[in-house]
Amino acid sequence: MPVSEGLQAALLDSGARMLNLDPPRFARARAHESRTMTSASADSTTTHRFQAEVSQVLSLVINSLYSNKDVFLRELISNAADALDKLRFASIQQPALVPEGYAPKIRLVADEKAATLTIWDNGIGMSRQTLTQDLGTVARSGSKALLEELQQAQKQHDLKLIGQFGVGFYSGYLVADRIEVVSRAAGSDEAFRWSSDGQESFIVEPAGRDELGTSVILHLKKDQEDYAREWKLRELVTRYSDFISYPIELCISRRDKEGKEETRFEAVNQASALWMRPEKELSAEQYEEFYKHLTHDFEGPLGHTHFHVEGTQMFTGLLYLPKRPPFDLGNPELKHGVRLYVRRVFIMDNCEELLPKWLRFVRGVIDSDDLPLNVSRELLQDSVIVRTIKKQVIRRVLDLLAKIAGEREADYLDFWQKFGPVLKEGLHFDASYADKIAPLLRYESSAGADTVKGLTSLADYVKRMPQGQSKLYYALGPSKALLDSSPQLEALKKRGFEVLYMTHGIDQWAIEGLPEFDGKKLVDAMQEDTGDAAAETKSEAADADKAAAKDKTHPELAPLLARCKEVLSEQVSDVRASERLTDSPACLVIPKGGLPAHIERLIRSHQHDLPEQKRILELNPIHPLVLQMKAAQENAADSAQLTEWIELLYDQALLVEGSPLPDPGRFAKRLSALMQAASSGRA
Ligand code: ADP
Ligand code: MG
Repeated sequence: MPVSEGLQAALLDSGARMLNLDPPRFARARAHESRTMTSASADSTTTHRFQAEVSQVLSLVINSLYSNKDVFLRELISNAADALDKLRFASIQQPALVPEGYAPKIRLVADEKAATLTIWDNGIGMSRQTLTQDLGTVARSGSKALLEELQQAQKQHDLKLIGQFGVGFYSGYLVADRIEVVSRAAGSDEAFRWSSDGQESFIVEPAGRDELGTSVILHLKKDQEDYAREWKLRELVTRYSDFISYPIELCISRRDKEGKEETRFEAVNQASALWMRPEKELSAEQYEEFYKHLTHDFEGPLGHTHFHVEGTQMFTGLLYLPKRPPFDLGNPELKHGVRLYVRRVFIMDNCEELLPKWLRFVRGVIDSDDLPLNVSRELLQDSVIVRTIKKQVIRRVLDLLAKIAGEREADYLDFWQKFGPVLKEGLHFDASYADKIAPLLRYESSAGADTVKGLTSLADYVKRMPQGQSKLYYALGPSKALLDSSPQLEALKKRGFEVLYMTHGIDQWAIEGLPEFDGKKLVDAMQEDTGDAAAETKSEAADADKAAAKDKTHPELAPLLARCKEVLSEQVSDVRASERLTDSPACLVIPKGGLPAHIERLIRSHQHDLPEQKRILELNPIHPLVLQMKAAQENAADSAQLTEWIELLYDQALLVEGSPLPDPGRFAKRLSALMQAASSGRA
């Protein structure tokens, strides 16, 4: 069944709900931010109050990263490198932006006496407006919703989450009690100073600067003066920023013999793109630091894959899987993709063309030798080069996942719990990868105790299949508990056939992309009998229970079935004798190609005009209750009581599948009446 846009939204929303999120509120919060900006004429000093969230984020940053102060340098160097990247990219179109002899670099200038540390770059720079806007709001993350998330994270002592939000510039206040930013935007001859103690407000005023770019001047706190020492900076840069592809120069001051002060700049990093270095030269720490630099994650990645492809096309990729999902993973509009470089020149962040949506959690870098430097989004969209790269990227990521699943099962299951629903989207949207996705799938199942952490792979399911079972059975439902007691699965379970439980909103569509596994059909055990389940369970049952198997049509039940159909003509499309029940009297099944009740409800909440879908009521032909109803009908063909019983049976079938009753009051009354009758009968 093709997924309409409405369905897709519903489906993805269910993903968001799984993560307990409400995607649209992020968009709202952002829209609000941009309205709170003030403007000012070029030569005036203006005072601005921080956006309300900033001070809260600041205190959160300071409290939670207290023991991790070093990160400020990584953040500020990373901003400088971003600014250099942006200028390099802009100058492809506008070569006049950079002066003659321009050499991009980052400089660290420490003044022990004054207790200041300056992070200097000759990157894109900031205009008055950018200074006000980008440093006055929480740039990456500025929204109340996010803050709530953060505060919750703090409550749970799960501070690692904060890393994902990229505290960025504000981490400077970990070590400084005042920060000044002097900046001149590329292409402008005006410079401005932003300055603030990080409490409530900041000022922006005209300033002087000869070169384009930015200086961030930290006035170090009394007990943080070590950050103005050469040895300390050298150590931090080597540890955190070695792979930054621009030179990071440390200003070294020495007094010569005459006591004259001499300063020179010394490059302290390798300044070569990490991804271009051979894998064997890189340590686990370097891979991890680079990941943190790319993602702002405070935690290392789950794994990475690093590859160089040569041939008709040349490109390099370094891709990472994070350990935990971004807070808005369920949001289909989530910015995703990897960083695209062309011959070491940064082109863009979040290059969506290189990654399908169902791999939107993958982070990393692709560096192509073949794309033109002035590549545009449009060009990317129908580029053969991009398509080739994308295929490789998908293959490499799936291989990496398979490797982790094979070697680190616990880690993989942890990953699966968090990202599985997104990966499953791939079955639906890119069924051509079904073969590679299938071994990665994990489901709950009726085999409960035999599974690892309650989850099974399809391969393990197949290993457990008893003799005589030739297909894989699955059931869609709202929860494991409900499926465990589903009457629809009784016969299968009685025969020792395992049933996979698919309880996520996406499963309904995902599983359509996987008709077979290991040469065996996948069969929906909740659907109308297409012969599959019945034939299989029946043939097994034939010897043991010849009598029951003799006549599948159960002509003796025909009058009761007809009566049920009449009573429930509004509610169900058909009433049949069942092959799948053993202990329960009745159940509802989905017509072929139909939707499970819980999914139908989910969709209807978004798409109110969804045509009504009637299900099929199945009765257990050998259940005592059904036999009694048959007898009652024979005695008094249209007694009002039989009608009530039929309706009660239908209500019960709704209850066991977790559907709401159309009239719970009536159901309760009837049940009480029955109980009364039963107890007085016994008395
Ligand atoms: P992020 O880097 O994730 O966007 P930050 O808080 O680190 O968030 O920085 C906020 C913004 O301030 C940046 O997006 C950028 O626009 C601007 N900025 C910060 N530092 C610099 C710099 N050195 N040069 C130019 N712009 C900068
Ligand atoms: Mg930053």
